[in-house]
This record gives sequence, structure tokens and C-alpha cells, in this order.
Amino acid sequence: GDPHVPEPLLVQAGADLVDEIRRHPTALGRRVQPDPGQVVAERVGDPQGLLGLVLEGIHRHDPRDVRAEGAGLTIESRLPGDLPEVVGDHDRLVQILLNLVDNAVKYTPAGGKVSVVAQPAADELVQVEVTDTGVGIPPSDLPRITERFYRVDKARSRELGGNGLGLAIVKHLVIAHGGRLSIDSLTGRGTTAGL
Ligand code: ADP
Repeated sequence: GDPHVPEPLLVQAGADLVDEIRRHPTALGRRVQPDPGQVVAERVGDPQGLLGLVLEGIHRHDPRDVRAEGAGLTIESRLPGDLPEVVGDHDRLVQILLNLVDNAVKYTPAGGKVSVVAQPAADELVQVEVTDTGVGIPPSDLPRITERFYRVDKARSRELGGNGLGLAIVKHLVIAHGGRLSIDSLTGRGTTAGL
């Protein structure tokens, strides 16, 4: 294993975080875990703002309809204004979204489209999907895709500058927030990561 990946720590922190949210649903304005290496519960607030921030951070344009000119991609987002407030770790949520959008951009050839869609779900949750029209992931690779260091096409992935850790970390961070990560894909058609 890789000593730099605090996998058990995150799972542990996740259980604590979910517990903390259950025990103090109204008192989460403060950070409950001071250790910066752990996931913290805080009132992140408006998820539209958070998602907008992520998209803006990547492209420094209007987050609602961004042309990723360099990559020849269109990135669009649908972020309704009536999303419930999100409780979680702001920086880790940004990390999750950045990783997913980064993958979508990396594995989508010029002329393709990446979209980020958020919508309210049951129980005051927010469902977020990052969809691309890229190369997709073969069905035989899909079950293992969130394993650490797992990559479909090692040569190409290396060229694109990843390390096979992105989705493993995303999955653990999503679980740490009491959520679930789904990856659906069709080879040659594209991929949707949902949380
Ligand atoms: P990497 O750093 O290699 O991108 P990830 O854990 O983020 O590592 O992804 C693992 C592998 O999953 C990638 O190497 C790539 O083969 C595949 N993959 C991830 N996201 C996508 C996507 N949106 N479209 C196609 N393949 C993807």
C-alpha cells in the first residue's frame, strides 16, 4: 500500500462525522474535528455556490456555461437555486468535485461535453452528477474502477498525468459524508459519476 493515503483514517472520520451530524443536527456551524487531516462537519451552505466555485476555479469564467477552449470542450452546469443546504467538509467537497470534473475533462476528446447537474433528493440531500461524452470505461473495468491505483489504459492514463488514486479518494470522501458514489459508463459514449 501507499503510506500517503489515509484510507482507514477517512473511513473512521466518516463514521465520526455521520455520528456528529446525527447527534448535533443544528450545531454544525463549528468544526467538530480540529485535526486538519480529518474530515470535518461544518455548515457548507449553498451547494450552488460551492459547485459554481469549483467550476469557476477550473475555468475562471461564468460557471453556468463555460467553454473549455483549450480542450475543445463545452462544460455546462445546471445548478438550481433551491438546493438544500449542505453539511460537510468544504475543502473535501471541493476536492471530490474537482477530481470528478478533472477526470471528465481528461477522458473526453475535443468536441465533447461535460456537464455538472445538481438536484434536490429525498431527505434534504443533494444529488450531483458529473457526466461526460468521453471514451467511457469498459464494463469489465467498471467494478474495479474505484480501487487504488486501478487504471483502464495505463499508458494513456500516465500520459494524462493521473496516478489511479483519484476515484479511490473520491469514494472514501463521499462515504465519509454519508453518501454513495456511483459510476455508470458506456464505452465510447461517456461516463456519469453520481453522488
Ligand atoms: P487517474 O489519476 O488515473 O485519473 P482515477 O482514480 O481518477 O485515476 O481514475 C481511475 C481510472 O478510471 C483512470 O485511469 C481512467 O482509466 C478511468 N476513468 C476515470 N474517470 C473517467 C472518465 N470520466 N472517463 C473515462 N475513464 C475514466
